Amino acid sequence: MRERHNKRSVSRNSGFPLPIALVYPNTRKVGLSNLGFQFLFNQLQGSDVFSPQRFFVAESFLKNPSEHNIPVSEEDNIPLKNFPVIAFSIPFENDYWMVPKILIDSGIKPLRIDRGRGDPLILAGGVSVSLNPEPLADFLDLVFIGEIVGDIDEPGGLWSMILEFKKSRIAAHDREGFYNSFRNINGIYVPEAYGFNYGEDGGLLEIRPDQGFPDRVTATKRLSTKETPPFAMVHDQQTQFRNSCLVEINRGCGRGCRFCSGGWIHRPVRHFKYLRFRDTVDQAITDKKTIGLIGSDLASHPELNIILSDIINRGGIFSLSSIRPEGLNDEIIELIVKSGQKTATLAPEVASKRLKKVIGKQIPNERFFELIDKLVAAGTPNIRFYFMIGLPTETEEDVQEIVEFVKNARQIFVNASRSKGRIGRIGVQVNAFIPKPWTPFQWSAALPKKQWEIRKKIIENGLCKLKNVVVRHESLRSSEVQAILSRADRRISSSLLEAARGGKLDISSFSASHLNARFFLRGYEIVKRFFHGML
Ligand code: SF4
Repeated sequence: MRERHNKRSVSRNSGFPLPIALVYPNTRKVGLSNLGFQFLFNQLQGSDVFSPQRFFVAESFLKNPSEHNIPVSEEDNIPLKNFPVIAFSIPFENDYWMVPKILIDSGIKPLRIDRGRGDPLILAGGVSVSLNPEPLADFLDLVFIGEIVGDIDEPGGLWSMILEFKKSRIAAHDREGFYNSFRNINGIYVPEAYGFNYGEDGGLLEIRPDQGFPDRVTATKRLSTKETPPFAMVHDQQTQFRNSCLVEINRGCGRGCRFCSGGWIHRPVRHFKYLRFRDTVDQAITDKKTIGLIGSDLASHPELNIILSDIINRGGIFSLSSIRPEGLNDEIIELIVKSGQKTATLAPEVASKRLKKVIGKQIPNERFFELIDKLVAAGTPNIRFYFMIGLPTETEEDVQEIVEFVKNARQIFVNASRSKGRIGRIGVQVNAFIPKPWTPFQWSAALPKKQWEIRKKIIENGLCKLKNVVVRHESLRSSEVQAILSRADRRISSSLLEAARGGKLDISSFSASHLNARFFLRGYEIVKRFFHGML
C-alpha cells in the first residue's frame, strides 16, 4: 500500500497556501522511514498556509546512477521546478551530492550565484547540515540549523518568513533584501551573507559576516516537552519500518560519549511524558501497527517500564531503536521478548578497558556478557553488536580485544541457546570512527586507509571461522566520503557538482576541488586552523 497523502495540488494552490517541495535526497524506502522528514511533512500539511509535496530519489537511479530522472512529486507527479520553495531534509553527509544532482535533473541552476528572479528558494535542514552546513553552502539560499520546532505558524519564525518570500517574488524580486530579513531569525544560516579568507597554506584566516548578520548562528531547540512529541504513521510496506508508528519519546543523551555528535548537539536531555503521546499509541494499537519507540537514550526515560507494559497489556507490539545496557532490567527484557523482538542490539563500541575510558563509554564487558545470557534465556534468539574502529589512540591490540570479546560473547550465547533448543545468530557490525563537529573528538584524524585494512583484517581473521557469527564492515569508501564532508567547507562544492554531473560520489570525486580533500581527514594540528563552525 502506498503512503496516504495530501491530494491538494500545486495548480489548485497557485494563490494560497504556498506550495512547498520537501525533498529527501535518498530513496522513498529510506525517506519514509525517517521520522524527522515525515514529521515535518505532517506539520506543513496540517497548516493552512503551506501545501507540501514530497520528493524522493527514484529506485531506478540506484541501478543506473548516470541516468537523468526528472524528479516529480510523490503526491501529484508535479515536477520539482514548478515549486517556488524547495526544502531538502538531509540527515547524512553521503547524500549531499544529491542536492546539486536533483536540481540539475529538474532544470534548476544548482549554484546559488546563478539563480535569480523567478528561481525557487532552496533551503535545507537535518542533522548533518546542522553539524556543518558549509559543504552545501554554494547551493543553498537558507540553512535551518537545529531541531524542527512544532509551531509552523509561529509569527516571525522561519516558516512565516518563507511566506514572505512569496510576496517578495511578486513584489520586488529582491533576493538580497529577502536574505536580510533572515538576519535575526533563530536557527537560520544565510550562506550568501558570509565571506571567508584563506591563507596561502589553504587554512582559514577569517570569517566575514555581512553587516547585521550574527558571528555565530544559534541552533534552534525544541525545548518544550509539553507538546506532542514527533511521530509518524508509516503505512508503506516497502520501508524499513513498514506498518509502524514511529514516536520520538526522548531527545538528547547526557552520557557524553566523546565520539557521539547526537549526544552533544541535542542537549539538554528531554523526555516526553507518556501522557503526551498515549493517544498516538492508542491509535497505533487500533491500527495494528508496531510502535517504534525512538530516542537517543531510551533507557533513561523515567516511564519506560510503564510505556512498554501498557503497550503489551493492551495487545500492542513495540520495537526499540536501541537501548543502553543500564536500561535492560529483567522486566524490560521480558517485555522485549513478549513484544516478539527477535534481535537485541547492543553497542559496546570498543572492548578494551583503556579505550572505553578514552571514548567515555565505560560499560564493562561483563555487563554485556551477563545481558547476552539473560536475553537468550528469556527467548531473544539473535544478538547484534556495534563496534567502531579508528578511534583516537586506538592500537591493534585494542582491535584484537574486540575479537576476544566476540569469542567470549559467542560462548555464552551458544551455552544459553542450547538450553532453548536452537542457536540464533550474532551479528557484528564494524563501522569506522568519523570525527564529527561539535564533539570532543572533532579535531581528531580519521584512520588512514592502510591501517583500516590492517584492523579490518584482524577482526575478519579472528572471527571468520566462528559458527553463528556474521561480521559486516561499513565500506571504507563510504566512511572516507562521510569523514571528508563532515568537516569540509564550501570549497568542496565543485567536487559535489562534479559528482552530480558524473552520477557518482566517491573519494575520486574530490579531485575536482582545488584543494586536496584528504586534508579534511587529517588531525588536530592542521585541521584546527582550517575548520570553522558557524553554529
Ligand atoms: S550513550 Fe549512546 S547516544 Fe548517549 S552519548 Fe553515548 S553513544 Fe551517544
